[in-house]
Order: sequence, then C-alpha cells, then structure tokens
Amino acid sequence: MVRTHPVYNPATGEPITQIPYATTADVDLAVKAAHKAYPAWKDTPVVDRVQPLYRFKALLDKNAEELAQILTRENGKTIDDARMEIKRAIQMVEVACGMPSLMMGDSLNDVSRGIDSRTVREPIGVCAGITPFNFPGMVPLWMYPFAIACGNTFVLKPSEKVPLTPKRFGEFLVEAGIPEGVFQIVNGDKEAVDALLHHPLVKAVSFVGSTPIAKYIYTTAAAQGKRVQALGGAKNHLVVMPDADMPKTVEAIISSAFGAAGERCLAGSVLVPVGEAAGPLLQLLEAKTREITVGDGSKEGMGMGPVVTGEHRKKILGYIDKGVEEGAKILCDGRTRAKEGTGFFVGPTIFDEVRPDMTIAKEEIFGPVLSVIRTKTLDEAIALVNASEFGNTTSIFTQNGKSAREYQSKVEVGMVGVNIGVAAPMAFFPFAGWKNSFFGDLHAHGKDAVYFYTEQKVLMTRWF
Ligand code: NAD
Repeated sequence: MVRTHPVYNPATGEPITQIPYATTADVDLAVKAAHKAYPAWKDTPVVDRVQPLYRFKALLDKNAEELAQILTRENGKTIDDARMEIKRAIQMVEVACGMPSLMMGDSLNDVSRGIDSRTVREPIGVCAGITPFNFPGMVPLWMYPFAIACGNTFVLKPSEKVPLTPKRFGEFLVEAGIPEGVFQIVNGDKEAVDALLHHPLVKAVSFVGSTPIAKYIYTTAAAQGKRVQALGGAKNHLVVMPDADMPKTVEAIISSAFGAAGERCLAGSVLVPVGEAAGPLLQLLEAKTREITVGDGSKEGMGMGPVVTGEHRKKILGYIDKGVEEGAKILCDGRTRAKEGTGFFVGPTIFDEVRPDMTIAKEEIFGPVLSVIRTKTLDEAIALVNASEFGNTTSIFTQNGKSAREYQSKVEVGMVGVNIGVAAPMAFFPFAGWKNSFFGDLHAHGKDAVYFYTEQKVLMTRWF
C-alpha cells in the first residue's frame, strides 16, 4: 500500500492535498535514472549546461508571484516573506549561471623545465539533497543549480510538509529544457532519505534541517564514503549595547525574531541587552511587538502568519509553558493569540529574566519566542554566546566600532552581523554555521558549493 502524507494550509488547518511517499525501490529508480543521465551531462560543455538554467531563471522571474502564493499556502509565512524567499532563490540560479568562470582552475607553465601544470574541476556524479520545511523555495536552490551547473545529476528529497513549491520549481526546470534524469524529485520521509544515504551510486549528500537529523545524515553518509554537508539547527543571540540606535535596533529584532513566525535558522531567539541597554530596549520592543498583526499570511500586509503544522504549534506552546514553569517573566504571551481549532497560530512571545540554564535559553524552539538574558558587560555577552552548543548566526547592535570589531572576532559563530537582524549571506558567499549548527567542511552556495560539487584534478604535461 502506498504511504501518503497530508499537506496543510497552516492558515486554515485544512489539508490541501496528500502526497505519496517514495519507497526504497522508487528511490533506486530515480538514482539509476540520474546515474544513466550523468555521462552525457558531464560531457556537455559548461557553457551549454548553464543554458537551461538561464531559461529556468527567466521562468522563475515570470512566475515569481505564483511561486510565492504556493509557498505561503503550504508553509504559512506572509506573502511578503514568500516573495523575498523567491527572490533569494532566483539569485542562487543567477550565481550558478556563472559556472564557466566559477569552475576555472589554476595553471602555471614550467613548474619544472618544460612541464606545465594546471588544475581542473570535474563533477562527482549523482548528488542528493534533503531539505527542511521552512524555506521550500530557497533551500533546495542552495543545492541543485550549483550541482547541475558543475555537471552532476541531482535527486532532491524536499520536506514532506511543503512539497508543492519544490515541485513547481521542478516543473519550470523541465520546461527550461533540463535533460531527462539530470534533475528529479522524490517525496517521502525517513525511508526515502535512508535509501539515498545507503545507495552506492549517490556520491554526495547535501542536507539542511534540524541538528539531530543533520548529525545522523553526516555520520551515516560519511560512513558510506560519501561527501556530506549537513546544516543543522540554531539558537541565535542578538546582543544590544547601550549606545545602539534603539528604534532601528527594535525594528531589526522584530524582523529577526518574529519574521517567518520565527521558523528561520537565522531567527534571533535570545536577546542579550548589555548594561543600561535593557530599559529603553525592552520598553520599545514590547510596545512594537504588541502591534504585530497575526493572521493568514496570504493577506497583504500581515505581520506574521501561522507556524507550519498543528504538531509544531503544540511543541512551541509547550516551550512557552516551560518558560513560565521555569520562572521566566512573560512580557508578551503568544498563547493568547493561538486560536484553537483553526489555523496553526502562535503569537509573538517575549520572556524577560531568562537564565542561561533554562530550557528556553538553550534549546531551539523554531517559533516566535524571544528570550531575554541580561548581561552586565560585553565580555559576559560573548561568553554567553560562546557557551551555546550552536553557532549559526549572531548580531551585535552598537554604534561603537571597537565593540563591533571585538564581538565579530571573539564569537564562535559562522555568520556574524553588525546592526543586522538576519545576517544571511547572499548567494555568492558561503552559508553555514559552526559547532552543532553544521557538520561537514564546505558550506552551502557561493564558491564552497562549486568545491563541494566538484573534485579537483591536477594535470602535469610535458611534450618531448
Ligand atoms: P527536520 O530535520 O525535521 O527535516 C529535514 C529533512 O530531513 C526533511 O526532508 C525530513 O523529511 C528529513 N527527516 C526528518 N526526520 C528524519 C529521519 N529521522 N531520518 C531521515 N530523514 C529525516 O527539519 P525541519 O523541521 O524540516 O526544519 C527545521 C530545522 O531545519 C530547524 O532545526 C532549522 O534550524 C533547520 N534549518 C537549518 C538551516 C541552516 O542553514 N542551518 C536552514 C533552514 C533550516
């Protein structure tokens, strides 16, 4: 019997459709088709390989609004957040279209008398991508445009919660003329993922999702001799110095903590006011948070949409209960705006007087919940950030260059911002965290993607 999974509209709580799960046998067929398509695709000159990607980009531009609507409908984020995500996704394709330059190697003549040497980058074969629910438009495109442009073939296993956006992207790639077998999608859960991880024809695995699964993917695929990059979860700190521009800082914090209902791996989830910053910061933050509108994300101008599923809402509400139980002071209580029985809503929540040993201070909640931990000095704030098991992103808000420089150099975090709420690297820079936020060596997109999806060869030539 075919196993299926419902896809919900989180704003109404109603199922939109059911998707069938791929079995191990289905995954095997997809991987074999990708393997069959690989030699011809690898031998296609890179300037020709990027042509379907140029046409793909044009189709995405033309249909960006349709994609944003699909995304909001299955994920719940506001239509503005969805539009921004589609824009970011398109930028990935734009960068991958530059592959003829990005793949270039080095060369040096006469490394020894009459001997010339050069490096070339070759694709590695069938690559697999496993992606999370929170960026169904963008995260798959951190992977396959780069992998394909490098000459690999690709099998994507998107999140079973949000398969419709990746599917529509895939249809546009087919319309753009990608040859059969070069790009395929398999829907499914652990069975499909395990089939990819254990398939001998899969050479590389890219993963983005939660930390326990990232660890599992990394250890399992690496043990099979595969190349792996596995991006995991996060607990991101926003540090505010007393000299920060408070109105602009509050605007950035609100967007960071409550944008996409906090379901972002770069969402600020611990706010760290230093010294005198706490008073003016929290007063303004609480007032502005109360103004956030919560509702159906597909309606224009909504401040925050629902979270992805009823189960996820329950988990977030559980964390809020836990925060209260452990003695934190609740300033804005999102539970009052969580409507039972309809959509999967949780309102923006702020806890003050949070201690570093509390559950809400340590664990990833992945919802609109911000914990405030006050510190006396910048050194104390840095020590707090570095004590976290995660190291995805962080930002400092200050008008003092010395504080900013010290912060940027001392924190053990992969992506660090100054006066930026969401310090997301653009498509042409690499993206990943440190510590339990990342397992592997080469990060997502940017030049790292080119290195990840290629193997380097050194050629030495002498003519007698
Ligand atoms: P998840 O780990 O539950 O799922 C991610 C993918 O793994 C999905 O495709 C899912 O089907 C698959 N999966 C789930 N359980 C599995 C299992 N037991 N075995 C094999 N595969 C399994 O993550 P999610 O809830 O979809 O996404 C949210 C998480 O992703 C958060 O932790 C967030 O921080 C993280 N995330 C990280 C980044 C980053 O750049 N570091 C970016 C986006 C999201």
